[in-house]
Amino acid sequence: MPVEADLRADVLAITAHRDDAEQTCGGTLLRMASRGLRTAILDLTQGEAGTRGSAGERAREAAEAARILGVAWRQALALPDGAVENTFANRMEIVRVLRRLRPRVVILPYWQARHPDHAISASLGYDACFLSGLRKIEDGAEPHRPFKIVYASLYADVRPSFVVDISPFIEQRHLALMAYRSQYANQAAGSALFAPEEEIRERTFAEARHYGLLAGVRYGEPFVQKEVGFVDDLTLLPVQSM
Ligand SMILES: [Zn+2]
Repeated sequence: MPVEADLRADVLAITAHRDDAEQTCGGTLLRMASRGLRTAILDLTQGEAGTRGSAGERAREAAEAARILGVAWRQALALPDGAVENTFANRMEIVRVLRRLRPRVVILPYWQARHPDHAISASLGYDACFLSGLRKIEDGAEPHRPFKIVYASLYADVRPSFVVDISPFIEQRHLALMAYRSQYANQAAGSALFAPEEEIRERTFAEARHYGLLAGVRYGEPFVQKEVGFVDDLTLLPVQSM
């Protein structure tokens, strides 16, 4: 089946849950879109295990958040929320998306996490990217292996490899997160578990400020890459030393 050119994405974020992208790489997706790149989000679950809201509500909220983030494409698989597993069948579901969108860069969750879905999504996404490049793995589409995988590490207490400056986009990112009214608007259900609405802004801005400070910008989002980078010209290295 020929791939429609308008389905291609430059950057694809693969996340366990709807609203993970908004929290961990939403500012980065906004920044990439502002540079004219096509961005996309694949959520692996639909949120049926959440304390608040239904999967249907979250679908509508995710579509609204995608609009605010300026992403060109967003879909959710239906892996079981809270029980994501790295199986061949699940890898192939992601392979079908990778071969359709053909992203150059894939953003995955960091591989160590409190929530098992996040950790497993990291290995599941990595394995899918590998399989997607194998010609012998056939599903009718041309093989495609992303050039680069980076890990959004906001949920993990690790030193990032680099930070993306999201200073101009932090308010827009916040709007995208708050599109999940069923999750973050003040309400009785789960009030012992969820921070009040006003505090979410303070917390997420403080985190972004923390990572921004590490790189000398106002607000930043942290990422880890496994590869060691290389440099052509020492005089063009970013971030002042002192
Ligand atoms: Zn999550």
